[in-house]
Amino acid sequence: MTQGSLFIVSAPSGGGKTSLTRALLPYLARHGVQASISVSFTTRAARPGEQAGVHYHFVDEAAFVARIAGGGFLEHAQVFGRRYGTGLPETRALLDAGQDVILDIDWQGARQVRQQWPQAVSIFILPPSVAELERRLRARSQDSEAVIAARMDEAHQEIAHHNEYDYLIVNEDFDTALAELAAVFLEPRLRARRQNDRHAALIAALLAN
Ligand code: GDP
Ligand code: ADP
Ligand code: 5GP
Repeated sequence: MTQGSLFIVSAPSGGGKTSLTRALLPYLARHGVQASISVSFTTRAARPGEQAGVHYHFVDEAAFVARIAGGGFLEHAQVFGRRYGTGLPETRALLDAGQDVILDIDWQGARQVRQQWPQAVSIFILPPSVAELERRLRARSQDSEAVIAARMDEAHQEIAHHNEYDYLIVNEDFDTALAELAAVFLEPRLRARRQNDRHAALIAALLAN
């Protein structure tokens, strides 16, 4: 079986990576692409509506540190004073099953993944303005004023790393940004070399007689 591809999506908090990557899965499914979003480990508290094992694996500091010691992370980083990490055996299992895997991770994690997995494709999502980023963080209404202020402070730092990514997408109109994100996933599959293999029978039939 062909191994899946690894995609990294980063954005400042509120930039839209969660809503875009969640909307991307049914979009890709309509094009016959099986992808999954990696469920990260974090030491931050669950937000209202967030489910353990679905949005994150919520763990305490001791469990996180034990996993680092056991080599169980593909990458891990401190973001907003909390720890976040991508499980290594979990990611490997998905890729080996032929799934494309999407990592919604910060720039520090993206750097670590590129070092170990140079063929990973990375995408940075930009907000259309600072004011709109702040409006979206508030509209999500899941974070306190103090948390929103801290995330706005960190946004500048995250955006400063946009040049390390393969693709840049401005998330102004949601559907436009979604179509652009999908294009990054679909383009490698439409290359003639892959299509020749995938549609060998069709091509042979079209060329017969
Ligand atoms: P190294 O590649 O010699 O450093 O040895 P590793 O044990 O780190 O990796 C063995 C193989 O697994 C290499 O081909 C790596 O590129 C690959 N690899 C590294 N990280 C991952 C991952 O997260 N998932 C998968 N499927 N393979 C990985
Ligand atoms: P992130 O995961 O990057 O922190 P979210 O996906 O949670 O960002 O998006 C932050 C908020 O902005 C959410 O309430 C989301 O519904 C909203 N949002 C995302 N993209 C757009 C867009 N293009 N236009 C308007 N609102 C958006
Ligand atoms: P949030 O708390 O809003 O879900 O995520 C906060 C930040 O942590 C975002 O910048 C997000 O990209 C990052 N993040 C989430 N999961 C991971 C992860 O597994 N690894 C790393 N390095 N960053 C992560």
